[in-house]
Amino acid sequence: MPKIFVTRPIPEMGIKMLRDKGYEVLINEAAKERAATLDELKDGARGADAILSVLTDKITAEVMDAGLPMLKIVANFAVGYDNIDLGAAKQKNIMVTNTPGVLTETVAEHTFALMIAIAHRIAEADRFARAGKFTAWGPELLLGTDLCHKTIGIIGLGRIGSRVALHAAKGFGMKVLYYDPNPNPDFEKEFGAVYVANIDELLPQCDFVSIHVPLLYPVKSSEAGTPKELFDRVNSTYHLINEERLKKMKPSAYLINTSRGPVVDEKALAQALKSGVIKGAALDVFEFEPEITPELKELDNVVLTPHIASATIGTRSRMAELAANNIIEALEGRTPPNLVVK
Ligand code: NAD
Repeated sequence: MPKIFVTRPIPEMGIKMLRDKGYEVLINEAAKERAATLDELKDGARGADAILSVLTDKITAEVMDAGLPMLKIVANFAVGYDNIDLGAAKQKNIMVTNTPGVLTETVAEHTFALMIAIAHRIAEADRFARAGKFTAWGPELLLGTDLCHKTIGIIGLGRIGSRVALHAAKGFGMKVLYYDPNPNPDFEKEFGAVYVANIDELLPQCDFVSIHVPLLYPVKSSEAGTPKELFDRVNSTYHLINEERLKKMKPSAYLINTSRGPVVDEKALAQALKSGVIKGAALDVFEFEPEITPELKELDNVVLTPHIASATIGTRSRMAELAANNIIEALEGRTPPNLVVK
């Protein structure tokens, strides 16, 4: 009977699908509110045919080795897969899958929730009201910024970036600029969007900048020569937004990040927010999460959410189904639909 190791508890639907197949499902219940430890990952992987992992858990070569010779697939419960050593998986002939598509709308909605929250000072106003500071309506009390008719720059026009562009253009009448290594002329026609050939030219033109790229680290010399589809790191997105680029943004602009924390140099961002280089930021992801750079927590011109952009009941359940389905397809000898590495 195939054995499945689930690194942290996930919505029941995915577990049920695996159990209905007669698989033995081992859930690492100890890691309900924290990441799994290396020992838990290695212990769980031993003898497993499949690992169902979540993004907090680093599936390294060492973890995969613990699962060999049985381990056939690592099914990630996320669209990003920067927590998995893809090179090691490829080398060890272990499939890797993700959960794209089912969370696109939810993450795009959360991006807008953040954008509106920072521009209309929602979190700050909530703190103000709760603190009993609302003594009278005031013509200049907590003035914010409109989204309507402003310019948004989208960095990474994939599934989520495109959905954000749709809300921006059709819902809020915003002008959409975008940068992506792969321009999309059809999208430009549909949304009146304008392609900007590089990020440095895009930043000074935007009132809002929203990031939707995968986290890709720069190529290491030891990885040179690995297949391009795995390590296309010429387009590294690590610290894509750094001190220099923050200075290229307008002092009135806002940065929104729902992609991955290390895409932004968090210390440089905190400094830029403190010194007025940019007006505000709204972040769902953090460079050293679950730690958050302490200065950020003290600033009023920041909205912070704890990596919950895809966290709705429906979406998390669909992610669990997709991850379980990828495992079932792989173990029944078919190609899983969301293959990242074979
Ligand atoms: P996607 O693959 O559809 O889109 C990513 C886009 O980024 C692609 O169009 C790609 O060409 C582009 N890109 C790659 N390198 C780039 C670079 N250097 N500069 C500009 N663009 C670049 O992925 P998606 O489904 O839209 O998801 C995007 C990312 O969002 C995921 O990789 C994940 O890290 C993140 N995400 C976060 C959450 C969350 O909970 N906060 C949830 C889902 C996804």
